[in-house]
Amino acid sequence: MTETQKYTCTITSDCTCELYDEETDSTKLDEYGYPARPEYCYGDCYNEAVYDFTDNFLPMWLDYHKLDKDGKVLVFANGIGWNKVSVAGFVDVSDIHKVMQIDGDFRNVFTIEGGELYAIRYSHDEPVGSGKWNFQPAGICDRCGDGIPADVYEDENGICAECKDY
Ligand SMILES: [Zn+2]
Ligand SMILES: [Zn+2]
Repeated sequence: MTETQKYTCTITSDCTCELYDEETDSTKLDEYGYPARPEYCYGDCYNEAVYDFTDNFLPMWLDYHKLDKDGKVLVFANGIGWNKVSVAGFVDVSDIHKVMQIDGDFRNVFTIEGGELYAIRYSHDEPVGSGKWNFQPAGICDRCGDGIPADVYEDENGICAECKDY
């Protein structure tokens, strides 16, 4: 990964399975020239996208910040959804791709740019995209196991604010 390059990875509820066209030896297209989709999706395309995210995309960012794949990250976002809520909290690295998933249709576009990881969700209520979801490196408290922002982790030698007070 280089500082200046931009990398993206999309996880969507829409089927992106491709069909093979033996006649043309390439992806089968529908009457409008778009890739044709199978009548029924078994979820292979979703699993493949998640696999691409966890095995190819995310490791670039983890390596850059020397983060453990069993660690935690801080996620925060402002003005999300029709009710414009703010979101902030810690999630396991292994759950990053799930944070923004909703029950309805969605398309989550993750981007790595200049060492930053952020994402934008497109859905029925967010046709032009949600606000930015930011993901930042975090540590884990040595005493209680909760997430701690990376700078606090360094300053307080791995103890969260609550545990420090006891
Ligand atoms: Zn599919
Ligand atoms: Zn603690």
